[in-house]
Amino acid sequence: MRVILAQPRGFCAGVVRAIEIVERALEKYGPPVYVRHEIVHNRHVVESLKAKGAHFVEELSEVPAGAVTVFSAHGVAKAVVNDASQRGLPVLDATCPLVTKVHNQGKRYVAQGRTLVLIGHAGHPEVEGTMGQIPAPVHLVQTEAEIDKLPIPVDAPVAYVTQTTLSVDDTRGIIASLQQRFTNIIGPDIKDICYATQNRQTAVRELSRLVDVILVVGAMNSSNSNRLREIGTEAGVPSYLIADGSELNPEWVRDARVVGITAGASAPEVLVEDVIERLQQLGPVEVETLPGRQETMEFRLPVELNQPRVPLPATS
Ligand code: SF4
Repeated sequence: MRVILAQPRGFCAGVVRAIEIVERALEKYGPPVYVRHEIVHNRHVVESLKAKGAHFVEELSEVPAGAVTVFSAHGVAKAVVNDASQRGLPVLDATCPLVTKVHNQGKRYVAQGRTLVLIGHAGHPEVEGTMGQIPAPVHLVQTEAEIDKLPIPVDAPVAYVTQTTLSVDDTRGIIASLQQRFTNIIGPDIKDICYATQNRQTAVRELSRLVDVILVVGAMNSSNSNRLREIGTEAGVPSYLIADGSELNPEWVRDARVVGITAGASAPEVLVEDVIERLQQLGPVEVETLPGRQETMEFRLPVELNQPRVPLPATS
């Protein structure tokens, strides 16, 4: 069996930064460090940080007074920031800078007097965080069909922003429909979909031309991983989202000559290796990697982690 690995795949700069924030906080302040929500959507990552002393909670009310608290890469609503501030919690903010950029863009549009539409998936923590950062009502749109139901006059000044991990193709369709409906609308086109999401989608599209089956390594609740599986399926290649090698069903690859593997932005490479090892248990495997785009993006850590004597702020 030939195995072709997509390039790029796996960790993005925002995920690397978020994990490093928790690890550095544990080293610097000592355990426990409290993390609101899964730092990134991957059980393996969460379990390894738990083993080092991180405590994961869903609500700030679960964080004891004075405990070092980390906000996840997905971002949080302003109410959460204010709550942490009122409680005097020392906070490190692991919100991806590309998510913060969307928050700021949305705030600017609202300050210009525009009604804001957010293209995204209901219930995703990034969407909840973005909606909660904008000091005005935000209209969430998930599909083109929902646009006609928006309670906004067609000639009102409107702007849109998007979740960072959407399907490029689906989002283009939704933006085109918004532009058809509203006569005075502005927005970033698909530029809010982050570089890592776009690069991984391009790579899986290339992969789909070469393989019989696609295995996407990632978590069920990872938005960008789900989009990779959808793109493979839309290209006509059976595509499966699996957390690791233990979830691989041998039936999926029984008749495959070439298996493609990619990984979502929150999946570590060790899990890709785990899937390859599982395939090797089924028969001889030759592994190659597509010559895709090399990523060089890096995000700086919060200043408090680089300067030993700077106390943590109550909010960030
Ligand atoms: S997927 Fe994109 S927006 Fe999300 S953490 Fe990674 S770089 Fe940031």
